[in-house]
Amino acid sequence: MVDTRPLGRQPGSMRTVNRIVTLTEGFETAMAGVPRGQEIELDLRLEAVMEGVLVTGTVSGNLTAECSRCLDPLSEGLEARFQEMFRYPGDDDDVTAADGEDSGDEDEDYYLEGDLLDLEPVVRDAVVLALPLSPLCGPDCPGLCSECGVKLAEAEPDHGHGDGIDPRWDALRGITEDPGER
Ligand SMILES: [Zn+2]
Ligand SMILES: [Zn+2]
Repeated sequence: MVDTRPLGRQPGSMRTVNRIVTLTEGFETAMAGVPRGQEIELDLRLEAVMEGVLVTGTVSGNLTAECSRCLDPLSEGLEARFQEMFRYPGDDDDVTAADGEDSGDEDEDYYLEGDLLDLEPVVRDAVVLALPLSPLCGPDCPGLCSECGVKLAEAEPDHGHGDGIDPRWDALRGITEDPGER
């Protein structure tokens, strides 16, 4: 929650806020996340405008994930930007009622709660969008051996199985090398 009282409601007034927040709830996707208890840093710029408060911000922190190739745990920096309008409560209701048809309701509208901004959903969305879909421990991660599951980065350079022939050919080999009389 960010208090907007120091900002006031005079359109044009502006204020920057820097905050370190400890997450009481993790921001996570299936592949990666910023777990509960982690700290994130918020750099915010609050701008009072006619309809409310425009918040522009950067969130930075550390994400943890599992390498999508070798499944090693990994941790890396995360930074996400966001911009959201928080409307003064009540303001909008009359306008939409008068308008009749409410066009462009795609965007979720955020409202100030008294003088407070609840940034949690906005920050959460920004972080979740910035999380990698296929995290990698390194750009060249060779992953796991498709046959035995050994981590190729730690295996012998010529790690392989048998004579290097794809085992899927074994069945065919059986046919050509049929030990039948000849
Ligand atoms: Zn990896
Ligand atoms: Zn192997």
